[in-house]
Amino acid sequence: MAEVYEPVIGLEVHVQLQTQSKMFCKCKNKYGDAPNIHTCPICLGYPGTLPVLNKKAVEFGIKAGLATNCEIADFCRFARKNYFYPDLPKGYQISQYKQPLCYSGKLMIESENGEKAIGITRIHLEEDSGKSIHGVESDEDTYLDFNRCGVPLIEIVSEPDIRSPEEAYQYLRKLKLTLEYLEISDCNMEQGSLRCDANISVRKKGEREFGIRTEMKNMNSFSGVKKALEFEIKRQSKLLEEGGKVVQQTLLWDDRREEARPMRGKEESEDYRYFPEPDLVALEVDQKWLHKIKEDIAELPDEKHKRFKKEYELRDYDIDLLISDHNIANYYENTVEISEAPVLTSKWLQNEVLRVLKEENINITDFAISEKRFGQLLILLKDDKINANSAKKVFNKMLQNDVSPAEIVEEEGLAQMSGSDQLAGIIEAVLEENSDEAARYREGEKKLFGFFMGQVMKKTKGKANPQETQEILRKLLDE
Ligand code: ADP
Ligand code: MG
Ligand code: ZN
Repeated sequence: MAEVYEPVIGLEVHVQLQTQSKMFCKCKNKYGDAPNIHTCPICLGYPGTLPVLNKKAVEFGIKAGLATNCEIADFCRFARKNYFYPDLPKGYQISQYKQPLCYSGKLMIESENGEKAIGITRIHLEEDSGKSIHGVESDEDTYLDFNRCGVPLIEIVSEPDIRSPEEAYQYLRKLKLTLEYLEISDCNMEQGSLRCDANISVRKKGEREFGIRTEMKNMNSFSGVKKALEFEIKRQSKLLEEGGKVVQQTLLWDDRREEARPMRGKEESEDYRYFPEPDLVALEVDQKWLHKIKEDIAELPDEKHKRFKKEYELRDYDIDLLISDHNIANYYENTVEISEAPVLTSKWLQNEVLRVLKEENINITDFAISEKRFGQLLILLKDDKINANSAKKVFNKMLQNDVSPAEIVEEEGLAQMSGSDQLAGIIEAVLEENSDEAARYREGEKKLFGFFMGQVMKKTKGKANPQETQEILRKLLDE
């Protein structure tokens, strides 16, 4: 059954912009503070107040447009979107309607069948509403927090180009990564700074016309979006299969139950009576300014991928991992500048640093070991001053104390034993102490080699250079 129908998906993504102040007033744009402390007559919608546009919000919107290959309007307007809701004291949101800031873009994603472009219909600016908090003390209570009123948002509307829940997931990941690289939002879905509504329809494979769509809201993670889409595709396919019709409506996703329910009719009524915002002049984008914003845009994920491949000769898999967070990518590059060992650095960053970040549930920006110290550790390893075993010990000490790796090696006596007669002497002693095993080895029990390696490591407290130990052992045992 599922084979017969093909999903068609378009996403509407709202992203809060990380400006200092709100979109039309001087109130702080800050998440997580005590309720209703970042408010003023403008964002509370007192009569007689006038909005003043935050230039930074426009700049961030333009950056999002440029990074997604959009055209940037040189002239656009704001519009009032009218509706009543307790968390919207003004009774309308200032948004953009017929003339968005950015339009006709695309975002490249990795789909199941390779690279694919997803069209971006438009990116427009709007202000956020307040927040209703339900059921704090009892089921009947609703609390209102107006700190979010007037926080700048962009809404990014995709073309209905997405053909599977997996593509939707990849689209969201790429979009989030791009916006994080631009440093215009922290894109935190749990805290609501990125919100996604999904439009879904299905059609018989090979058909050209789109089917009737529903809109799914209320997902709070990317995997939630994927699950909600899978649920709705199944529901619609089954409905059509049984001869029914899809009703155009808005559905609310219940993540705990993993099912969707229709929104109540009232919540859904969508007659916003848009009209041009009379309190704001049209927005003209100065071409010089636009040019400057273009120049300011940081390296984006795709470009970084290409450069990493060329400069560091890493595998695609490793590059994707390193660039999946631009702060990690920066940490990597700063470390390589010191270590001059791109592959070794990538390996240690992934195996050790990322492990610690995960265990401690912290970001790389809060990591205890600076790029400089990490690079110095890798130099010791690269130059065979310590072996991998000892490097791990030093790494763990470095986590606890802000001292240089060289000092730790010195203090702990971890310098690698190599080349010296000292190492040969120790190995000879090991063979003497285990003369039975040595005899058995010489008679053909070759698997005892590992036993001798172990004995040498034990005697040197893990400091022996493994390659040299192997060589010397071979020489002494096989002669
Ligand atoms: P609205 O103004 O009601 O939100 P839009 O025309 O702006 O409607 O479309 C919203 C989203 O729905 C867009 O992302 C678009 O790609 C998507 N969409 C439109 N038609 C369909 C369809 N038949 N099936 C799936 N998605 C669709
Ligand atoms: Mg919509
Ligand atoms: Zn305000």
